[in-house]
Amino acid sequence: MPNLNFHPAGRHFLQIPGPSPVPDQILRAISYPTIDHRGPEFGVLGRKVLAGIGKIFKTTQPVVIYPASGTGAWEAALINTMNKGDAVLMYETGHFASLWKKMAERLGLEPEFLGLPGIEGWRRGVQNDLIEQRLKADTAHRIKAVCVVHNETSTGVTSDIAAVRQAIDAAGHPALLMVDTISGLASADYRHDEWGVDVTISGSQKGLMLPPGISFNAISPKAMEASQTATLGKSFWAWDEIVAMNSNGYWPYTPSTNLLYGLSKALDMILDEGLDNVFARHQRLGEACRAAVRAWGLEIQCVEEACHSPVLTGVMTPDGVDADAVRKLIYESFNMSLGAGLGKLKGRMFRIGHLGDCNDLTLMATLSGCEMGLRLAGITLQGSGLVAAMEHLQSTARPVARHPEG
Ligand code: PLP
Repeated sequence: MPNLNFHPAGRHFLQIPGPSPVPDQILRAISYPTIDHRGPEFGVLGRKVLAGIGKIFKTTQPVVIYPASGTGAWEAALINTMNKGDAVLMYETGHFASLWKKMAERLGLEPEFLGLPGIEGWRRGVQNDLIEQRLKADTAHRIKAVCVVHNETSTGVTSDIAAVRQAIDAAGHPALLMVDTISGLASADYRHDEWGVDVTISGSQKGLMLPPGISFNAISPKAMEASQTATLGKSFWAWDEIVAMNSNGYWPYTPSTNLLYGLSKALDMILDEGLDNVFARHQRLGEACRAAVRAWGLEIQCVEEACHSPVLTGVMTPDGVDADAVRKLIYESFNMSLGAGLGKLKGRMFRIGHLGDCNDLTLMATLSGCEMGLRLAGITLQGSGLVAAMEHLQSTARPVARHPEG
């Protein structure tokens, strides 16, 4: 049994693409004493976080907050709206899209997995023309939902959700649009209402900078209407009771009080910085990270320029080099955790997270650990990724966003 009380000197660099590092302010907020979840103070907290989270999803519609990880919110989206045996069109962008499809099967739905063959689909965003063609062919409207992952955390590919909506509309199809932005929210631009999404699913441990443990469904009126007749079994996840009690800032059961303290603080931090500044910060960090990977002479998993994720970068290791061995070496030598290759990409790539509470110098330290680790692993690099990243950050440097009154 490892000694969990032992901490190596300095901060552990948690550079996986979520859970992301939790800032000290949020950790302190979470440590406040737990209060009565039926008392008056709780109602103030509940109303504050419910109003604030809508701004992050860019919606005026209800956002349900579950005491669960993202997987729970995936399930909630499906069981609140679907009936046993319903056909759902799910798009294969990577490992998380595959897991969501597996869940749909287990729930008694009939998912159809659409995508480019082999590993190609794991290197590109959602191909909207495939969705449009498939929906046009479904003249009987058997397909009840289109499910896509906005930011595929297993690959570092971000898809254009507005274009998916356009594809559904162009086909004149009534299917609901469900989007997983578990790792995209509060790091990559996202607009639930404007993009016509029916259910958006997200989680706490990525762009929101919280520990894992709460997750979300943002719900359109059309999805809410579907939930009134949907027959898949549900109780804990049922939207109706939660939304009704949320109107006063309460939940039908015991919510994660302390994580909601954290959420309240995270919302203050994100809204003070300004969502557009948050997105621009992530874009810039992503660009600098990719400049480093290119200078090393390594391949980036995402091959579509417009789809590079601002949240993480997937780095392919050269043929014959086990990416997990490189990650292990970096962990042991520099006390930094990087994301593993998942599913079809196991051992072929590692993932650098640059999301949430991340700035220029966090990224530079992260890249230095990567560069040293790659060299230690015996990989010949074409050049210095550090210099390339620094040049990008330096040439685009600007005053960091501070509190509006600061
Ligand atoms: N979907 C995506 C895109 C994810 O990145 C994750 C987790 O990393 C999940 C779903 C599953 O969420 P959780 O692990 O919080 O249950």
